[in-house]
Amino acid sequence: MNAEIIAVGTELLLGQIVNSNASYLSSELASLGIDVFHHTVVGDNDQRLKEAIEIAEQRADVIIFSGGLGPTKDDITKQVLAEHLGLPLRIDGKTEQHITEYFGKMKREMSTNNQLQAVVIEGTTVLNNRTGLAAGMYLEHDNKKYILLPGPPNELKPMFKDEVIPILSVWTENSKILVSRVLRLFGIGESQLAEILDDLIENQTNPTIATYAGNNEVSIRITAKEKTTKKCNQMLDVMENRVRDFVGDYIYGTGSDTSLAQVVRDLLIDKDYRITAAESLTGGLFQSTLVNIPGLSLNFIGGLVSYSEGVKENVLGVAKKTIDHYGVVSYECATEMADRIKEMFDADIGISFTGYAGPKEIDGEKAGSVWIGLAVAGKETTAYHYHFAKDRNSNRQRTVLTGLDLVRRLLLDLPSKNVNN
Ligand code: ATP
Ligand code: MG
Repeated sequence: MNAEIIAVGTELLLGQIVNSNASYLSSELASLGIDVFHHTVVGDNDQRLKEAIEIAEQRADVIIFSGGLGPTKDDITKQVLAEHLGLPLRIDGKTEQHITEYFGKMKREMSTNNQLQAVVIEGTTVLNNRTGLAAGMYLEHDNKKYILLPGPPNELKPMFKDEVIPILSVWTENSKILVSRVLRLFGIGESQLAEILDDLIENQTNPTIATYAGNNEVSIRITAKEKTTKKCNQMLDVMENRVRDFVGDYIYGTGSDTSLAQVVRDLLIDKDYRITAAESLTGGLFQSTLVNIPGLSLNFIGGLVSYSEGVKENVLGVAKKTIDHYGVVSYECATEMADRIKEMFDADIGISFTGYAGPKEIDGEKAGSVWIGLAVAGKETTAYHYHFAKDRNSNRQRTVLTGLDLVRRLLLDLPSKNVNN
């Protein structure tokens, strides 16, 4: 069984709203085992909507409409479909009562327009709208299934969950479901990744493997198709391990909601290390990124934005001769910054950032030249050099993520200080 989603609304075509309903419906349908081969977007226009329906009928078993069930002139979905199928419209008594009660409760005048939201196509199963007024509809006609859902996501989602899934599940009992897993990688480019995994990707049909480039990182999505979630997960485990054999070093976490900062937070807490930072070009962005995620109050103690040479020297305590001799963007300055800040805040890990964010070249040194220093008790303090080649703020963001990844890798190697471990 395969489905097509037709999102109705001129706002979508004008770019005023994003078609998030299609994205939601697609992922729900995937987990029900229903393939989605086409998304269609059409404006509030009778003729073009009719054409979209005709095309969808040629290639899909289930046609799901989003939007256009409201009371205004531009809401045309049910009228156009009813006419296309040659079915009459009728008023649904239960929905009409629901609407009347709503206006009574709100002590608002009900307009004749609102009655339109109780109009349904003859022969449909009415889908209750728990969070709004317009009735949804499910209809079987000439071997096709039609599902009409309201546009507002806060109405469409509960209606799909409560009313549509039970109907579709009956049809999909024996079909296979899709389960995906996302692996998140930092420090490797998408083309390099695709090359390393080329054979694996090429020769793999179930689970499938795909790579995606994101903002400063890449992801691998593995998707398995089997009868049960358990079976899917077993297949995903096997494939994840094979992928890890190739690029495990770059994988910092799994799941589309995971971030590098969260992974670092969990490691800091788990191993009981306290971190501080001295930031120049990042201007506090590293510390802000840590504070953006909850739960670090015991492990991130504070730090310093040492942007000017004066603050590096007089507040942080980097030796004047280091700066005079090597410059502020140097291995020597980065390591001293990391040492000083670690000492100043009595932390376990001190990280420092110094570099040229851009856009200008300074002292012959290219924009994007960055040193990150790392000081940790019991290890020799060191610094790493990078060349980032984007605009100023991308370079700063990349610097912060690179710093987080260095801390992540460091923490993986460090022994736990946690007495509870
Ligand atoms: P209403 O009764 O509110 O008019 P409706 O079923 O007629 O609902 P539309 O008029 O098409 O739906 O859209 C109403 C609102 O729902 C839009 O302004 C938009 O905020 C949201 N919406 C519509 N379609 C989508 C979509 N495909 N994805 C996300 N949001 C949508
Ligand atoms: Mg509307």
